[in-house]
Amino acid sequence: MRLPRVFGLKADPIAELEDRCRTIRDPVAKLRYMRRSLEHYESVDERLQAVPVAPVRWALYRASRLDKARALFSHNPNGALNAPPRRRPPVAPRARRAVHWAAVLMVVAAGLALAAYPRSRRAGTAPPTLSPVAEHLPLPLDGLPPQGVWLVDSGDDWELYSNGLRIDTTYAVAGEPRRYRAFSLDGEMGEVLHKPSGLVYHTSESDIWPLRESYNEKLRDSSQNLLRYLRRRQVYHYLVDRFGQAFRVVEEADRANHAGMSIWRTGERVWLNLNGPTIGICFETRWEGGRALPITRAQLEAGRRLTDYLRDKWSIAPDMCVTHGLVSVNPRRHLIGHHVDWARGFPFEAFGLPDLYDRPSPAVALFGFDYDEQFLAVMGQPWPGVPSAERELAEEAARTGQTVADVRKERSERYDRWLARHTRDAEESARQAGAAATRTASNH
Ligand SMILES: [Zn+2]
Repeated sequence: MRLPRVFGLKADPIAELEDRCRTIRDPVAKLRYMRRSLEHYESVDERLQAVPVAPVRWALYRASRLDKARALFSHNPNGALNAPPRRRPPVAPRARRAVHWAAVLMVVAAGLALAAYPRSRRAGTAPPTLSPVAEHLPLPLDGLPPQGVWLVDSGDDWELYSNGLRIDTTYAVAGEPRRYRAFSLDGEMGEVLHKPSGLVYHTSESDIWPLRESYNEKLRDSSQNLLRYLRRRQVYHYLVDRFGQAFRVVEEADRANHAGMSIWRTGERVWLNLNGPTIGICFETRWEGGRALPITRAQLEAGRRLTDYLRDKWSIAPDMCVTHGLVSVNPRRHLIGHHVDWARGFPFEAFGLPDLYDRPSPAVALFGFDYDEQFLAVMGQPWPGVPSAERELAEEAARTGQTVADVRKERSERYDRWLARHTRDAEESARQAGAAATRTASNH
């Protein structure tokens, strides 16, 4: 099956790239060609990821052979990490022929829709409404604060807590030691901290199978594969699967990889790069633009119990429970929304938390960050805290007789200075941790 010409890809992107590279002698020209090609594949990949119906998405990936090229991509724009390998859902032999023709029709329809997509964006119309993959839920829970959640019982691979939370610890591993500091608003670095002081919510952007009994095996397998993948890379502290099982991945007290380059502010404190201060909670689902709640009721209830347990245990302030999309940045280009999982649609209220989409975006207000067309293509419009932060920049410009662009530039230079100090401090702590490990080893 060939992909419609709109994608501009040949049958096998990798083979084509290799063939073409062999014909280019000049190494600089070769590198430039490779980089351009990968950028093009990534942009096609992003458009494929926006296809809302999973079987169509699988058909398109298979038809484009783009699944082979994904391993080369530097990032997965809708989530925290490149998704584990994708497989097609099982199809009974009798149904295969019908599904084949249905898939051909859907590929053609989706191709036409995608071909029209960039034009409609440029015309300034609303982005297409994406349908949810998981069941749609109203917000059912009231916002009681957590109190006194305690360990009731435990076994070799599980813990049970008084609020009904059950944590599966089969996959738990140690991470790097935590050592981080917050900035004060005037740019001073605070004391060294070692305990977690916040939460960041993610979506896994992995394969999502239909939530039906006949898919039990596939549903279980995809969670186990995802967990093994996360454990190897020490990504997230918790994964909540689609049946609401909470799995510990990296020990809470340790640092995990999940929030990368990021910015947040609580009161007088400013936080750069939230892997240090936060615990990462990932819901096994695809965020799908956040236009409908993408998690199951079981996930919502488990996520709420897990949040209450962690907030109670580590004394975490409610405005330090954020989403990845709210805090993620591209530091080099000074752009918000580098990762956009939960950049809208997180059910803060159902988790007993303040709606942080309304908070003025600290990346914009403090550091003059902006957003680009790619961000708008996914989001349609930014969350409310972005325009309110932009109003703060405009007021500052009016007060000081500068242009808004001047204010942005001044503030993004402030970010560069703070980030440089933050990086030096992180390097110093890595050096100290290395020295401590050497001392410990020589004492044995
Ligand atoms: Zn994420």
